[in-house]
Amino acid sequence: MSVHRMVCEGENSAEVLFVCTDDQCGRRVVLGKSSPKIVVIDDGEFGASHFGSMGGVFIDDVDAA
Ligand SMILES: [Zn+2]
Repeated sequence: MSVHRMVCEGENSAEVLFVCTDDQCGRRVVLGKSSPKIVVIDDGEFGASHFGSMGGVFIDDVDAA
């Protein structure tokens, strides 16, 4: 099982955009800052495990079952 790192590529006051660093994957998710919501924009490589962090925001892929 592959492990991909995600990096912050943009943010506003309410949300943070995380993008996978794997060129073949392209997973993109948006995380809410104040609420623990996660919105998947692009699934990318669905079987891979994704993680990343930025400031106080931490992503640990809970939906990659
Ligand atoms: Zn990925």
